[in-house]
Amino acid sequence: MKDYILNYTKDELEELVKPKFRAKQIYNWLYHKKVTNFKDMKNLPKDLIASLEDNFFLHTLKIVSKQVSSDGSIKYLFELQDGHTVEAVLLLMRDTQYNDDGSIKHLPRYTVCVSSQVGCKVGCAFCYTAKGGFIRNLNTSEIVEQILQIYIDNNIESNRRINIVYMGMGEPLDNLENFAKAVKVFSDLDGLSISPQRQTVSTSGLSSKIEKLAKMDLGINLAISLHAVDDELRQKLMPINKAYNIASIMDAVRNFPVNLRKKVMFEYLVIKDVNDDLASAKKLVKLLNGIKSKVNLIYFNDHEGSEFKRPSQERVKAFQEYLLSKGVLCTIRESKGLDISAACGQLREQNLKDNK
Ligand code: SAH
Ligand code: SF4
Repeated sequence: MKDYILNYTKDELEELVKPKFRAKQIYNWLYHKKVTNFKDMKNLPKDLIASLEDNFFLHTLKIVSKQVSSDGSIKYLFELQDGHTVEAVLLLMRDTQYNDDGSIKHLPRYTVCVSSQVGCKVGCAFCYTAKGGFIRNLNTSEIVEQILQIYIDNNIESNRRINIVYMGMGEPLDNLENFAKAVKVFSDLDGLSISPQRQTVSTSGLSSKIEKLAKMDLGINLAISLHAVDDELRQKLMPINKAYNIASIMDAVRNFPVNLRKKVMFEYLVIKDVNDDLASAKKLVKLLNGIKSKVNLIYFNDHEGSEFKRPSQERVKAFQEYLLSKGVLCTIRESKGLDISAACGQLREQNLKDNK
């Protein structure tokens, strides 16, 4: 059976192709020249190309839909070989820099949000992805290729600094091996060289997997989807909290190796009349005591059939101000691409409906 070439770290490839230096050449074609065909790997001998063609798939994802939001963010829907679909989003943020003559130039700063599974087992009450249940894990290649295709589709040069957030569909730590390998493939200096420090994994809080990830010491940033400050409410919103309660998550976080200059991010989805009160903010401050953390408040994104509502701007601002007043770093996530229903899972759902 054919394997996926993008599944392989360079070290693994070096074991596979002889002589060893061919692995580096192949990485160069895959991640710098971004060829979509083995035949285009011009400096490889013909018999090696033939053997690669016989044994490996190269690109396997198809862009089936693309939505551009008013802020320039682009949401992609990719079809996998077996017909299932996943989403990835290219987020554009303006970065202000100065030219040599002192004039201002605006460079887009890219962040790509990738999916790690088709569907999700965690089943959070507020999440669109959860609605369709869990279908399967993505392999490393399918995670890596989302980024590669977005580079190609937007002519992003290989040396451009981009950030990766594993915040698309699925729970990355429920697919730990494939996700961890993707982190390594992305960071290879002969590949895209996206340092682990510019990669952030978001998890619903699988404490035992956070501990496993800590042992791997990949150097990646950690984001915890907390969303509630007491177990009772969290359990209602996120059934996973029965298996891994808040205290177990905090323990795992305390033992997580964080780069000296970095902080663990706590994501807090603000839902109207559910968790947007100042008493919750107060508890949150207590909970984070002693942890190098920052909080990211996310407006709940309303979707069809949802029992929850978007909170008012005043409540979110008041929540933020309370945290700031207690010395807790807190930002409000800009709703990039809200007009293209950026909360993951929604584009896929719409596409499934349209094709019914
Ligand atoms: N499964 C992981 C990875 C990202 S899930 C996790 O839960 O951390 C995708 C992100 O979308 C999470 O940050 C989640 O909080 C957010 N999200 C899910 N449903 C949402 C909604 N209706 N509105 C806004 N954000 C939502
Ligand atoms: Fe899964 Fe994350 Fe959605 Fe929860 S929020 S169901 S963990 S994708």
